[in-house]
Parts: sequence; structure tokens; C-alpha cells
Amino acid sequence: MKDLNWYFPKSIAEAVDLVQQGKILPHAGGTGLLPRGFTGIGGLIDLSRLPLHYSKIENGSVEIGSMSTYAEVVSALMAINPEHILVKSLRNSANTPLRNRITIGGSIAFFPPWSDLMGALLALEAKLVLVGKNSGEFSVTDYVTNKTLREKSLITAVKFNLSNLRSYHYRDIRTKSDYPAFNITILLKQSMNKIENSRVIIVGTVKKYSRLTTIEEYLKNRDVGKINIEEIEKLVEVKFAGKRIDDPEYSSYLAGVELGRGIEQLLRGH
Ligand SMILES: Cc1cc2nc3c(=O)[nH]c(=O)nc-3n(C[C@H](O)[C@H](O)[C@H](O)COP(=O)(O)OP(=O)(O)OC[C@H]3O[C@@H](n4cnc5c(N)ncnc54)[C@H](O)[C@@H]3O)c2cc1C
Repeated sequence: MKDLNWYFPKSIAEAVDLVQQGKILPHAGGTGLLPRGFTGIGGLIDLSRLPLHYSKIENGSVEIGSMSTYAEVVSALMAINPEHILVKSLRNSANTPLRNRITIGGSIAFFPPWSDLMGALLALEAKLVLVGKNSGEFSVTDYVTNKTLREKSLITAVKFNLSNLRSYHYRDIRTKSDYPAFNITILLKQSMNKIENSRVIIVGTVKKYSRLTTIEEYLKNRDVGKINIEEIEKLVEVKFAGKRIDDPEYSSYLAGVELGRGIEQLLRGH
């Protein structure tokens, strides 16, 4: 087996020089890299010495350093809003040792179809700070759709605003420690008896994720009393691959039912 070189930069500038060399990849929690194997990788850049391990919450905005773990993000947000969508989506992810290891940056760059992070970040319309070939702030949506943004660039932070949106997260798992076959994220803003707006994302579909704009349009400016959950269930059109789940048609039906339940729960206010 070919020797794998490890690099231990102490500054972001040093890490950026390495990342731009191409075949040398950042190593964050290592939980995605290890099962992937090291074919085609010329070396690994250990990010643990970089100042990317922080959460800043100021004036209604949140900035999380990319080396923060799932567990650290849950603790930081729990202290200000236990109902925050990232608390709900990450607190049951994987298992305790993994939540202490999996990082935000590695999970954005890797974006597996079982991600408990990405639905929430997409729904929050979060932004990423990149350095390297691409430097600046970019939306998470652009990052996941535009391959060139992911080339030779290091994610240093993720940013989003704190909002008063109600939140719901569902993980479709068969056992407690299972990877979710899919997961649903809903954010909803209600004023008086009307839904002002919503964001609905399903991660794990054939396109990796789907934003359900048909449901968002159905809900927009609608009187709460005129929301028909059965109608919503029928509007859910998402395709799943049969690879990881036995029956894609059944999963699509299940996604509709669970989405309806989620909206019902949010309308009841808990
Ligand atoms: C058994 C198991 C169960 C899991 N279950 C779940 C689950 O239920 N839900 C869930 O959400 N996740 C789950 N995960 C985690 C998920 O599959 C990935 O392993 C994880 O998201 C990768 O994060 P990491 O910090 O370990 O990244 P790493 O493995 O270190 O890196 C992953 C990729 O991202 C790149 N990278 C890392 N950091 C950066 C950066 N700052 N900038 C640019 N590129 C970077 C690396 O070069 C690599 O290509 C599970 C993992 C395991 C092993």
C-alpha cells in the first residue's frame, strides 16, 4: 500500500495552500473518509489545529466554525433555543461517539443522502464561508448544486439567522442506530391564523434532496382552518431509489404521511 502523507497546518493560510494542490484532502472528523477508502488520495490535511472550532451567536445571527461537531452545535443552540431545527435534527443523529466526532464542515462537503444536517441548513438558507480556489460567502444551495464551488476550497464556517420559524424534523429509521432512509425538515411561519411562509425539504431522494415548493405554495397565506392534511399528503411527489430502501413507492407514500403529520404537529403548536 502506498504511504499516505499527513499534513498538520497551524494556520488557515497554510491549509489553503495544501488544499489548492488538489489530491490532498481535508480531514475533519474522518467518519466519511474512513469508509470511503484512500484510493486516489495523495495526502490528508488534519484540520484539528485550525481556529475553526467555535460557535458565535450575536444579534440574531449564528456563525459556526466548520470543525464544530454535531454534539457541540446541539449544545450551543440548545442554550438559546431548544426548539431550533438544528437541535431537533442533530440530537438523534448517528450515536453519541459519532456526534462527538462528525463535524459540520465535513458533513457539508460530504453530504450523504442520510444527512441529518443538510435539510436544516438548506431550509435555513444558510451561507458558507469558503477559502481557497473559491473564496467568500456562498449559499449552501449553490455549494451543493455547483461542483466547481467544491473544488480545492475549504469550508471555514456556516452562517444563518436565528428566526421565529416553527420547526419539525423527522428521521425515517428502522432501528435507533440506523442511517435514516430519508429525513424531512419543515420550517413554518404563522401569524395569527395564517401561514405566512414555509420551507419543506426532504433529504434522501433520487436527486439527493428535494425542496417541496408545491407544498410551500399550498401553505403560503392559507388560513390554518383551510389546511387539509390529506390534500398535502397527495401533493408530495418525491422519488426514492430502491437501492437503500426496499420499496421506493412505499417510501414516497410514507414521506407524504410523515410530512402531513409534521405539518399537523406544527399547526397544533408543538
Ligand atoms: C456508522 C456511521 C453512521 C452515521 N450516521 C449518520 C447519520 O445518521 N446522520 C448524519 O447526518 N451523519 C451520519 N454519519 C456521518 C456521515 O456519514 C459522514 O461520515 C460525516 O458527515 C462526515 O463528516 P466528517 O467531519 O467526519 O468528515 P470527514 O470524513 O473528515 O470528511 C468528509 C469529506 O469532506 C471533506 N472535508 C472535511 N472537512 C472539510 C472542510 N472544512 N472543507 C472542505 N472539505 C472538507 C473531506 O476531505 C472529505 O472529502 C454517520 C457516519 C458513520 C461512520
